[in-house]
Amino acid sequence: MYNLKNKSALITGITGGIGMDIALSLASAGCRILANAMDTPEKIQRVVSAIYSAGAPEVIFNGDDLTERGCAEHLTRLANKQFGKLDILVNNAGIQHVQPIETFSEEHWDRIINLNLSAPFRLIKNSLLLMRQNNWGRIINIASVHGLVASTHKSAYVAAKHGLIGLTKTVALETANQPITCNAICPGFVQTALIQSQIEKHAAEKGVDIERAKQSFVSQKQPSMTFVSPKDIGAMVVFLCSDSCDQITGSSFPIDGGWTAQ
Ligand code: NAD
Repeated sequence: MYNLKNKSALITGITGGIGMDIALSLASAGCRILANAMDTPEKIQRVVSAIYSAGAPEVIFNGDDLTERGCAEHLTRLANKQFGKLDILVNNAGIQHVQPIETFSEEHWDRIINLNLSAPFRLIKNSLLLMRQNNWGRIINIASVHGLVASTHKSAYVAAKHGLIGLTKTVALETANQPITCNAICPGFVQTALIQSQIEKHAAEKGVDIERAKQSFVSQKQPSMTFVSPKDIGAMVVFLCSDSCDQITGSSFPIDGGWTAQ
């Protein structure tokens, strides 16, 4: 539907449930893709092949750890070397840890803040140098409903995602004088590895099988009683990258089956 031929995109977390569909959607629109994730060689191979099959003219994979300082600079340098520019940045990689605050370890706190908030900061900072040179850019941060509202036992995640939405607004203001936009997408529950342990815990607590637990887990928060599809997040990313969205910046878009409408 949207043509992003001649655009290049850096997407993080592409082997995850959401990142893969974002990469496939941008590939279908004709984007060249620099993909980052930390995963097994088999999974990486499978996802990179799928991105090519979806229509990406070029795919480069990088397996660096985004929590390492210097990684963002290296990735944007790689994009510039390979594509001569960087048009789109999707900050998608993220982790979760669920624990009451009294027993929440500093290690978990630091790792979540580092990957979910500081890595996007570093990637935006470095990507903007290229976007400003080229006078066009789209930055999309995959936040969460937890960037808008809280839930118990997710202190670091909720803090990081609220911070990511604040960062999104600040970057939007600082880039408003150029055709560069920065927005956040706030998904509700999506069935991926990130929430698997929460579903398993819910099944054990309720004494039900995994399929029943999934239904009851999603229904606790989402009035639609249905998980969000990663494809819908990919479609939203492509829409936000289109020229129709020139004036959409600094916004946060829930895709949450009504979770935050309550
Ligand atoms: P996932 O666990 O399926 O995938 C996570 C991805 O991040 C993987 O590709 C992994 O390799 C990568 N990654 C993890 N640590 C990394 C590191 N140190 N350096 C580089 N890459 C690393 O997760 P997902 O559900 O696809 O989540 C993607 C994004 O969506 C996250 O930011 C998450 O917070 C957000 N989100 C997820 C849900 C959900 O219900 N699944 C809901 C709202 C928001």
